Amino acid sequence: MASSNVSSASSSSPVLAGKVAFVTGGSRGIGAAIVRRLARDGAAVAFSYASSGAPADELVRTIEAEGGRALALKIDSADADALKAGIDRAAGHFGGRIDILVNNAGVLHLGPVEQFSLADFDRTIAVNVRAVFVAIQAALAHMGTGGRIVNISSTNAERMPFAGGSVYAMSKSALTGLVQGLARDLGPRGITVNNVQPGPVDTDMNPASGPMAATMHGFMAIGRHGHADEIAGMVAYLASPEAAFVTGAGLNIDGGFAA
Ligand code: NDP
Repeated sequence: MASSNVSSASSSSPVLAGKVAFVTGGSRGIGAAIVRRLARDGAAVAFSYASSGAPADELVRTIEAEGGRALALKIDSADADALKAGIDRAAGHFGGRIDILVNNAGVLHLGPVEQFSLADFDRTIAVNVRAVFVAIQAALAHMGTGGRIVNISSTNAERMPFAGGSVYAMSKSALTGLVQGLARDLGPRGITVNNVQPGPVDTDMNPASGPMAATMHGFMAIGRHGHADEIAGMVAYLASPEAAFVTGAGLNIDGGFAA
């Protein structure tokens, strides 16, 4: 059999041992699952949150109790200066590097176009789009060859089959163009950049028991909400050395929502 030049970790060394990750919005939901998974895979993980100090501190304690390293930082992603400063601080705390950036923090404002406020429009753009760009710029200052950038987009970047979601869908489809362009900028540096596009996932943002759940399941081939750990598994793959040839992609993990 031909040998592969893909590096793999030995059985005694977790796949992300020695790596440093930064995850935005890691206190709850999908972000918390990503933080836990990257830490279990051996990375030191810094993560931001907007207001959930108690769950963030609890997550740090859990990871440390399992022998991992974690750092929680209160940063509103809409505050570009604070976000950049937080990423710089995380890099300094963990030895001067960021190997993996996961842009997960996001907001969901739904509503008919006639009543949609400019404040909600601006907040959506600030958190779901501008902060992704700001975090990427900040992390790149600390990122070397083999770096990984993963954005949590949405299957709504490709399909928005119900009314009221236009601004959210726009914010997520903006990330499609961003990663396609950035893949070209960063490929020569050996850095990959991809979007993970979940379908409905059971979190505070979109509970499996919510009023829209049955409607959403009707659009899907696998009619259920996803689990945050399932999304974290795809992120862990993209963050790993094995995914070195995946870049500029939008990967659906949506139970067939966009099929
Ligand atoms: P949740 O609302 O359950 O959790 C959001 C997380 O992001 C929290 O940790 C929250 O912090 C943090 N956050 C929110 N706003 C900010 C901000 N301005 N600055 C810093 N952190 C912030 O969301 P989900 O876990 O469901 O969603 C995570 C991502 O996945 C989002 O980008 C979302 O658009 C995307 N997504 C979600 C889907 C779903 O069905 N759930 C489907 C497809 C995509 P705090 O706890 O402090 O508020």
